Amino acid sequence: MPTNLLDLDGASLRTWFAQRGHKEFRARQVSKWMHQRLVDDFEQMTDLARDLRERLVAEACIQEPQVISDRTAADGTRKWLFSAGPGNAVEAVFIPEEQRGTLCVSTQAGCAVDCAFCSTGKQGFARNLTPAEIVGQLRLANRALRSATDERPVTNVVLMGMGEPLLNFDNTLAALRVMLDDDAYGLSRRRVTLSTSGVVPMMDRLAQSCPVALAVSLHAPNDRLRDELVPLNRKYPLAELMAACQRYLPHAPRDFVTFEYVMLDGVNDSDAQAHELLALTRDVPCKFNLIPFNPFSVSTTRTALRRSPAARIRQFAAVLAASGRVVTTRKTRGDDIDAACGQLAGSVADRTARVVRLERRVRGLPADGVALA
Ligand code: SAH
Ligand code: SF4
Repeated sequence: MPTNLLDLDGASLRTWFAQRGHKEFRARQVSKWMHQRLVDDFEQMTDLARDLRERLVAEACIQEPQVISDRTAADGTRKWLFSAGPGNAVEAVFIPEEQRGTLCVSTQAGCAVDCAFCSTGKQGFARNLTPAEIVGQLRLANRALRSATDERPVTNVVLMGMGEPLLNFDNTLAALRVMLDDDAYGLSRRRVTLSTSGVVPMMDRLAQSCPVALAVSLHAPNDRLRDELVPLNRKYPLAELMAACQRYLPHAPRDFVTFEYVMLDGVNDSDAQAHELLALTRDVPCKFNLIPFNPFSVSTTRTALRRSPAARIRQFAAVLAASGRVVTTRKTRGDDIDAACGQLAGSVADRTARVVRLERRVRGLPADGVALA
């Protein structure tokens, strides 16, 4: 099996070259071709000696995930659905703004945490993405979006797509290292944000190995409610989570943690709950990011979750802001193509149908009729 060089972070790539008797700087050259010039073909890497190119052709490959669909929303948000092997697909979303372009990246196909309000969770867990599949999302977005005037259109990355990044720790870590590597994407640690539902021991490992900006999905001000909304809370309750945030901060590139809070009508959005949230987070330097709940098909048919009314969200934000904390409310982007938070691989049935159609094409089967194994 050829080695997919997109799976290797800088140190592993250097080791791979060293084991074959090549100097370290060769790994750096290849990294630049691969991640900056976005070249796939070793023969085009003209500053490498011919014998090295031949060896690479024989032993290595550069393989990105295969794009199944590519859609652009009315507001310019762009979403790629790509294959993660038979029966699985994951998504990446690009959100253009005035001063920056943010790519929202997935780390797992499905998710085992199963938060009550999340479409990814409702699919169950399928598998971890490989480093190549995670970093490949950034690579293919840069290729699709770059222009003569803008070589690196993705300026920020958020690990807020499908999956819980800290439950796919090693692969996420390798991908993060490539994103930060100056011989690859060269993003600063402040411009890469990892969002977690609160896998406490892995937050400590991230602090030690690759501390990027941290967002924590809180969604509830007490254990009773959070146990229901984010089942992982039963394992790592709020007191432990708050302590983990405090331990993370001295390592973090920013001096605050962002607490994400999805606004659910009548569930977690009262003034009393806003006060409780302030008390809970009193000792953690933080900002709040309120996310209006985005409905998806399963959420509306099988649960009674609804988005808080806009006036309620404003009032909840006002209570938090009165304490002096910074509060932002996330603008819903790309919801006309199911690209908003929590809608990824939105309609499960729709996703499955698309994946099945692709598999049939790949395997040369008729468009419908025969059941797939
Ligand atoms: N698993 C990680 C990262 C992916 S989810 C985490 O949970 O943090 C990214 C953010 O989208 C999380 O804050 C998540 O709670 C939120 N989210 C999930 N489903 C949502 C929905 N239906 N509407 C709004 N936000 C949602
Ligand atoms: Fe998983 Fe995050 Fe969705 Fe929860 S919100 S189910 S942790 S992807």
